[in-house]
Amino acid sequence: MTDHAAPRDRDDGPILWVNTLFLSLSPFVAAALIPLYLWYSGSHWALWAAAFTLWIFSGLGITIGYHRLFAHRSYEGSPLWRFLSLIAGASALQNSAIVWAAAHRRHHQHTDHEGDPYDATRGFWWAHMKWIFHDNDRADDLSNVPDLKADSLVVWQDKWYWAIALVVNVGLPLGLGLLIGHPWGMLLFAGLARIVFTHQATFCINSLCHILGTQPWSKNNTSKDSWICAYLTFGEGYHNFHHTFPADYRNGLRWYHFDPAKWAIWTGNHLGLTSNLKRTEAPIQWRKKFERQTERYETSLSQIVPETNEDWSQRIESARLQVDKNLTRWSQKLREYHRACRDGQVSASLLRSVRLSRRAFRRAWKQFLALEQTMPQPA
Ligand SMILES: [Zn+2]
Ligand SMILES: [Zn+2]
Repeated sequence: MTDHAAPRDRDDGPILWVNTLFLSLSPFVAAALIPLYLWYSGSHWALWAAAFTLWIFSGLGITIGYHRLFAHRSYEGSPLWRFLSLIAGASALQNSAIVWAAAHRRHHQHTDHEGDPYDATRGFWWAHMKWIFHDNDRADDLSNVPDLKADSLVVWQDKWYWAIALVVNVGLPLGLGLLIGHPWGMLLFAGLARIVFTHQATFCINSLCHILGTQPWSKNNTSKDSWICAYLTFGEGYHNFHHTFPADYRNGLRWYHFDPAKWAIWTGNHLGLTSNLKRTEAPIQWRKKFERQTERYETSLSQIVPETNEDWSQRIESARLQVDKNLTRWSQKLREYHRACRDGQVSASLLRSVRLSRRAFRRAWKQFLALEQTMPQPA
């Protein structure tokens, strides 16, 4: 993973020394002080428990709150949910929700291009944290978050961000530490070291999740799906899916995909704390998979010998049309079904036609995919 040099004419803005020194040195300071503390002052179970709990709290504050709720509005949260998300987000020490969301929306709008604050094409370290070292004019541009500027709770958190961050990152660990007679230990474990872990987990979303993994949904940008990244980033590792369907409240689509934020939002829904969870409909997901498979066939066709190319072009095109036709029909039937649900008029025959159209699509898809097995290998 090399770090490509920025073009000469690129103005990243002046260096922010507080950000640069803190982010560069904090991992080393924490790694050096923890063994020293344990050696001289001994351990206490509460140090580890508080650090772990606050790590989960702050990590989920970013994924559940800053990312999926405020930046993408992929679901709605009750005032209590939003308040807790804002406190948890502030404990991750990554700026206020409004500033974080504005940068993240720019990342989605300009992914891999000028205007993307953490453009992964500039290399691992830029996307990981070097972008935070610079004072960029665009960081103050909040024109893309009018909805958040109208949310009084979000505005309150922005106004008092540093006070809240100090209370949760210094006051809380200090208070807990005094209770167990380890004030410095708790500041080190539940404060500094925990912040380092939370920072690195979030930073990996912008760096590793654009480098490591596969692209089953789209090749339009560098985002990747990777179960390893999911474990490192509180479930944000299915990043290719996320960039393709950013309004979906899930990152890990399947139930077994590691995505604690998805499980928490879903549980919140059953407790009446979250609502209007947005999901991408199955035919829309399949449409993307269909486009990716078509691209793969086009690549393969361009590599096989010309004598067999024409025959295979026709076979693929006829299977492709079948998939397209059946996918469109399934989408139409689902739309009819949703309309009928709204009107309270779901009939047995409509349900049957939805099932049949889905089955017909699956059959056509299988035949389309089967061509890959028998297709001649590239010359
Ligand atoms: Zn991304
Ligand atoms: Zn996002």
